[in-house]
Amino acid sequence: MDLKTTDNSWVNKFPKPLIIAGPCSAESESQMLETATRIKATSAEVPIFRAGIWKPRTKPNGFEGVGVIGLNWLKKVKEEFGFQTATEVANAHHVVAALAADVDILWIGARSTVNPFTVQEIAEALKGTNKPVLVKNPVNPDLALWIGALERLLSQDVKNLGVIHRGFSTYRKTKYRNIPNWQIALDFRNQYPNIPMLVDPSHICGNRTGLAAIAQEALNVGYDGMIIETHADPDAAWSDAAQQITPEVLADLINKLQLRNSDISAFDDEMDRHRTLISDLDFQLIELLSHRMKISEQIGMLKKENSIAIFQPDRWKIITEYANQKADETGMSQEFIEKVFKAIHEESIEVQNKL
Ligand code: PEP
Ligand code: MN
Repeated sequence: MDLKTTDNSWVNKFPKPLIIAGPCSAESESQMLETATRIKATSAEVPIFRAGIWKPRTKPNGFEGVGVIGLNWLKKVKEEFGFQTATEVANAHHVVAALAADVDILWIGARSTVNPFTVQEIAEALKGTNKPVLVKNPVNPDLALWIGALERLLSQDVKNLGVIHRGFSTYRKTKYRNIPNWQIALDFRNQYPNIPMLVDPSHICGNRTGLAAIAQEALNVGYDGMIIETHADPDAAWSDAAQQITPEVLADLINKLQLRNSDISAFDDEMDRHRTLISDLDFQLIELLSHRMKISEQIGMLKKENSIAIFQPDRWKIITEYANQKADETGMSQEFIEKVFKAIHEESIEVQNKL
């Protein structure tokens, strides 16, 4: 069996979208039980309860998880409320302890996925398990590493697989804690449509305000569900306080999600028509760009023959001005048009440089 043919029946046993919720970290028995009680009391359908038992923290001496004692609390959550349970494993000891405590679903964290030695160790410890194992994307934008982690699991006969898109680190501060880089996840999806994919809005956003939008976007592109950090008292959480939400806020978020059907057969014809038009316009755009580049090449020759600098700031200023004006007239965002023209202009300069 290879990754393309693993079956995803484990995920089909859950309602769609599959929601995994629970605190970033298990902190105490009462925190776990209160969070579980309140999730259960809402109208939202949450079949799986998450909690980190061992926490990968950026700096030492902080709270690094309660350790194995937390596994008893997960067990209680399962027995008293009927949730399935999920936790992160980051080495072979974690795997042994989590399997012994009968945690139902395990995930490999983003900081572990980057390290092939770690993934190999975890995979070997999991050998042959039927429990679903979810692999978070590595913190760096490396699709091959993400796929490699799944291949390591599969080669140890771990067949019930899934992935979690939790965003990617950047040095530059953005509005996200980890930028989504949707293209990487969608490339994964294109290559392995059979492997269930969840989104982790909590670690993408790093705050509470962006969660709903990310969750909805993921559903719009056909993800199977999500994992969302949920805590009885988010502000007092021992880790990731800023991004956790209460069970009641979670329920509200879930109830507002709109599920899209990935089966478009019902309006196939209309969709086909629109797509034909779009493709036609795309071809025209490319033709126009090619035409523009050829003219740019002629300008480049003139500049070369007359020893004129390739980049002419005055000319670029004029282009930006008319592009902005046209953007306004046609109701498009100036920001978008500027991006497009920057790319075109850069390519023009490149073409002229090559002469
Ligand atoms: C987590 O889910 O709490 C976690 C540590 O996530 P990540 O591995 O995505 O940072
Ligand atoms: Mn967290």
